[in-house]
Amino acid sequence: MVGMSIQIFGLPVSRGVAIGRAVLVASSRIDVPHVFIDPTLIDGEVARLFAARDVVAAEFDALKRDLPADAPAELAALLDVPHMLLQDEALMGASADWIRQRHYNAEWALSAQLEVLARHFDEMEDAYLRERKADLEQVVERLLRSLSRGVPSAVPAPGEGVHDFGGDEPLVLVASDIAPADMLSFKRSVFKGFVTDVGGKTSHTAIVARSMDIPAVVGARQASNLIRQDDCIIIDGDAGLVIVDPSPIVLEEYRFRQRQSELERSRLARLRHTPAVTLDGERVELVANIEMPEDAPVALEAGAVGVGLFRSEFLFMNRGGHLPDEEEQYDAYRRAVEAMKGLPVTIRTIDIGADKPLEGMTPSELRQESVLNPALGLRAIRWSLSEPSMFRRQLRALLRAAVHGPVKVMIPMLSNLREIRQTLEHVDHARRQLVEAGKPFGEVELGAMIEVPAAALTLPVFLRHFDFISIGTNDLIQYTLAIDRTDEEVSHLYDPWNPAVLGLIQASITQARAAGRGVSVCGEMAGDPAFTELLLAMGLRTFSMHPTQVAAIKQRVLRVDTRRLAPLVPEVLASDDPEAACAELFAAVHGGGAAGGAWMASPSALQSA
Ligand code: PEP
Ligand code: MG
Repeated sequence: MVGMSIQIFGLPVSRGVAIGRAVLVASSRIDVPHVFIDPTLIDGEVARLFAARDVVAAEFDALKRDLPADAPAELAALLDVPHMLLQDEALMGASADWIRQRHYNAEWALSAQLEVLARHFDEMEDAYLRERKADLEQVVERLLRSLSRGVPSAVPAPGEGVHDFGGDEPLVLVASDIAPADMLSFKRSVFKGFVTDVGGKTSHTAIVARSMDIPAVVGARQASNLIRQDDCIIIDGDAGLVIVDPSPIVLEEYRFRQRQSELERSRLARLRHTPAVTLDGERVELVANIEMPEDAPVALEAGAVGVGLFRSEFLFMNRGGHLPDEEEQYDAYRRAVEAMKGLPVTIRTIDIGADKPLEGMTPSELRQESVLNPALGLRAIRWSLSEPSMFRRQLRALLRAAVHGPVKVMIPMLSNLREIRQTLEHVDHARRQLVEAGKPFGEVELGAMIEVPAAALTLPVFLRHFDFISIGTNDLIQYTLAIDRTDEEVSHLYDPWNPAVLGLIQASITQARAAGRGVSVCGEMAGDPAFTELLLAMGLRTFSMHPTQVAAIKQRVLRVDTRRLAPLVPEVLASDDPEAACAELFAAVHGGGAAGGAWMASPSALQSA
């Protein structure tokens, strides 16, 4: 493949261009932590690697020693193979080089080297030698287990030191799949882009990539097989294209595009403190979707006027099975509330399950592993209702955080009155517990996410019991169209423009407004400029999105006259092709220049802002 450029197509999930060296993360059978270690700790990490080697060598010695005297000689010879591998420079020496040169922790270094060697084995002509790959995998697995039992690597705390990677070329991550929890741990890492073989546009892996505002392509099928460690690759996050070993001309063209998009970003950033008001004077709230309290200052900096969705489940991930207690949760929510300096913070109760599992912690969680359709199973509020003490612990922490600023509590994936009643009883119960414990707590507004068609179709029930609703379009689309949002095989059918989806959104906005209840959209549609005009025309005034999208959406809002667009909505919804109808009708209203990306990038839009 050397010298030959290849192109791999996937789904564009996070915009922009990244150019860098590929870091392949192997999907090992045991969980491998991927951490950049501090340069001062390199020698210690190499020593960890070799200490694990000695332990595993002793394990194989013991196996050989304990062989019965009459065991066939071939068996003893077979046990020599791992020994040879453990002494082999190609495994141990090269793994130590990954630690020294790339600052990988020992586990990552080993799995990276396994990936390199496994490919050599795959390419061997000789069947006997090809099969030795299994021995190699077994040895590495034992080494990884030994490392996980021994002293953990001395790594900096998340967010500290990871920026200090000494390499001079940007790195991009390539993996078969990245769990949302792992994605979170990469959030403040050095990677400048992501490529995965699997995943859909609104899978949580894609959502976290977007929140990091770095280019990503998912669903790129064979990417992790076709790309090798250290290949030079371009990730085109606009087109969903990955180019491996690009020619100098292609590389230069993409470098130019990179500079252009940086310019565009800095132009947009100037809108940060401009209020989002339409041409006809309608005030629009652009609020942020966040995953951790640390994201709140970023949201504020981007010009968000609050948090519309704090996905609290991310606090429960990457914790090795140890759930945060009430104090720890209270502290995290309080930090988010304080960081927003008096602006409202909407915190969603835990939405675990489907593509965000918590590794084998509770019986119900274990059950979930075994079901075939986790998206239709025990997730979100269903999970919380099945774990009442966990749920009330979270509710108490949320109510207590409301002492420090305006907090709204939002419930994911409700579908019927029974669940609503049970939820409200738990909230009352949590309040009573706080009164009994003498702990101060504040008033919260309560909201329901509209994510299941049943909820949208029985909206009056929800409007009677909640202060506000938030339309989770990612799930509403998934459940309305029966398309698994994480499955790249059906991603072409995942269509926000489908008239059934648009009809449910329109009806929900209209009914909520008529009932005097707050209504927002917090799915990915809210941060997609292609839908801004339509949602405004439908009457939406609160949009919740990744902080990185706020400026681009604001730019759209500033150019819209909702009085002229609103009357066109019935025609858009009744048309065979709402996307085309929207482009045509709205462009006519805006004098022919309103639709499409060219309008979005126009510098005059900024000047007039
Ligand atoms: C949604 O479903 O639109 C939503 C915002 O929730 P999540 O993406 O976390 O499922
Ligand atoms: Mg959802």
